[in-house]
Amino acid sequence: MQYNIFAGTYENGQYTLPDLPYEYDALEPLYDEETVKIHHDKHHAKYVKNLNAAISKLESARKGNDYSSIQAISNEIAFNGSGHILHTLFWHSMKPGGNEGKMSNDFKTALDESFGSANIAMQQFVSATKAVEGSGWGILAFEPLSNKLIVLQCEKHQNLTIWGVVPVLVCDVWEHAYYLKYQNERDKWVDSFMKLANWEFAAHRFDEAKCILAASVK
Ligand code: MN
Repeated sequence: MQYNIFAGTYENGQYTLPDLPYEYDALEPLYDEETVKIHHDKHHAKYVKNLNAAISKLESARKGNDYSSIQAISNEIAFNGSGHILHTLFWHSMKPGGNEGKMSNDFKTALDESFGSANIAMQQFVSATKAVEGSGWGILAFEPLSNKLIVLQCEKHQNLTIWGVVPVLVCDVWEHAYYLKYQNERDKWVDSFMKLANWEFAAHRFDEAKCILAASVK
């Protein structure tokens, strides 16, 4: 089974709402038709609509070289982009009847190695998800440095990131990164960083990320 879940979700410069991978009532009685319909057709759709709107505001800002609203626009893109991506993952995270029994041996082994056993993994996932403070998500994720699966709690769903992005160049603006030399003048530090930026590294990371991830979007 191929899960190209993001296929066709970006066309002609616009993000698009993916269809549900099943009928609205397919998850009954555990997840009712009306909730699924409103959740997908209204809530998820609104994230996509507002993401496209924010991106068009960003295009105007670039054209006019007017970044006076950049903070608000960045917030809108992070909120709506993360909402869109996590909901797309969410729909595929469920299946009529579930299929826990069909977990592959490789995945079971990965759960064993990462958590001790599949059961422990599920207990941790359930506990973490139930304990998310306020609105948010429980997330099972692959952490490539340890080559392990991990469980994350995510509060809200954005905090200025879009889940699924791969960082290619990063600048630290915690005070510890610049305060000794620049004190409160973060702008100067960022200007300096830009003079130091390693675009060759960024291009390399970009190529790597494209190799790994592009196939799952096409
Ligand atoms: Mn939702």
